[in-house]
Amino acid sequence: MIGVFGGTFDPIHIGHLRLATEVAEALDLERVHLVPAAIPPHRGEPLLDADTRLSLVAESIRDEPSFVLDDREHRREGPSYTSDTLAEFAAEFPGESLVLLMGMDAFNGLPDWHEVDRILELAHVAVATRPGAEARGTARQWLDARRASVGELPGAAPGRILPVEITRLDISATGLRAMVEQGRSLRYLVPEPVVRHFARG
Ligand code: ATP
Repeated sequence: MIGVFGGTFDPIHIGHLRLATEVAEALDLERVHLVPAAIPPHRGEPLLDADTRLSLVAESIRDEPSFVLDDREHRREGPSYTSDTLAEFAAEFPGESLVLLMGMDAFNGLPDWHEVDRILELAHVAVATRPGAEARGTARQWLDARRASVGELPGAAPGRILPVEITRLDISATGLRAMVEQGRSLRYLVPEPVVRHFARG
């Protein structure tokens, strides 16, 4: 099973890296592809440009052989949809089960994602706990209806949802950007390459 973990990573922080690590352990994933998103217009200006976000992810995962940086959403023209990204992974790795990784806040938004039915035809979804976020609304109903345990995955058709308890780290890129703005240190909240990037200022 291969993990696919998208995010804006503006910047990457240890909440992201522990999510990928702990979900990979819990599900015994072969590897996790980190897919930085081209930032959609509605999110406003990112703090870091695309090349910097990508290179900070690359440097931060350099020592972890099971993590792979994937820059396809930056190479693609036009809007980037997770459904297209997963379809490309499915074509590249035929016969492999795909697992889409996300935190609970992102999962609550999943029912509104573009072509979500197609997403659930292509991949399972691993949902990691995140401080301040509980499953609600349609996402909660999906979790109840599609919930699976790790043992049920082999041979199961895509579209199962696996809640995964991870170490709760109350860190967000939004909070980190505010700290940068205030001139505060990010050390120990982010990997060392990100600390160095902002120290260079
Ligand atoms: P922002 O504050 O800019 O929205 P973020 O910290 O939420 O950023 P993203 O890049 O938007 O980071 O998130 C990518 C994925 O990582 C999402 O699925 C999100 O739920 C998850 N995630 C981010 N931070 C954490 C955390 N501290 N604990 C658990 N999941 C997290």
